[in-house]
Amino acid sequence: MADIDFISISALQHVAYCPRQFALIHVEQAWEENYFTAHGRVLHERVDGGEPEQRGNVRFERTVSVFSQTLGIAGKLDLLEIEGKSDKKYFPVEYKRGKPKVEDWDRIQLCAQALCLEEMRGVEIAEGAMWYWQERKRERVLIDAALREATLSAIKQARDILVSGKTPMPTTHKSRCKACSLVDICVPDALRKDHSVQYVEQLFSGNDTA
Ligand code: SF4
Repeated sequence: MADIDFISISALQHVAYCPRQFALIHVEQAWEENYFTAHGRVLHERVDGGEPEQRGNVRFERTVSVFSQTLGIAGKLDLLEIEGKSDKKYFPVEYKRGKPKVEDWDRIQLCAQALCLEEMRGVEIAEGAMWYWQERKRERVLIDAALREATLSAIKQARDILVSGKTPMPTTHKSRCKACSLVDICVPDALRKDHSVQYVEQLFSGNDTA
């Protein structure tokens, strides 16, 4: 079994979106850049270039490295707003190219950053924000109990996949495959039809019920 130290926070959105996508990228090292991923990368490069600045009572720090020894995660957050001097209030902001999502994929990444900040700076973070390029607006995100639980679950799922080294079967949410940059490598429809793959998986996992 592999010994995994730190999981990249940016990888949590992959496991939340589709565990197979996470494994293809982070276990099998497959990556296909499409328009969406290229645009997201350029957007982050633009954000990454900024210097810290002070505006009134708020300090803005960009591309802040964060990690949690307890959770075994590490990454960078796009923007950290720090309000006040002695009793500081921390407000993480993550930039995304698309639109706000119904699902928690992006919010999980933000929550993981908040959990790191809480551990590193000994504070409690009640909320942060996503900034969406396509809509040019902020979405405030409550770092509540449900989001924290979803984030911890994504971290566990990512660690389990990395330790096992096994790539899960395609997601049952077929609509997600249409926007997935790995669809040509993954061939989800063929795998869903090929029941022999599940049979072999069952044989090696010891769950064969035949
Ligand atoms: S094509 Fe579908 S099943 Fe395959 S990695 Fe992408 S989202 Fe997951």
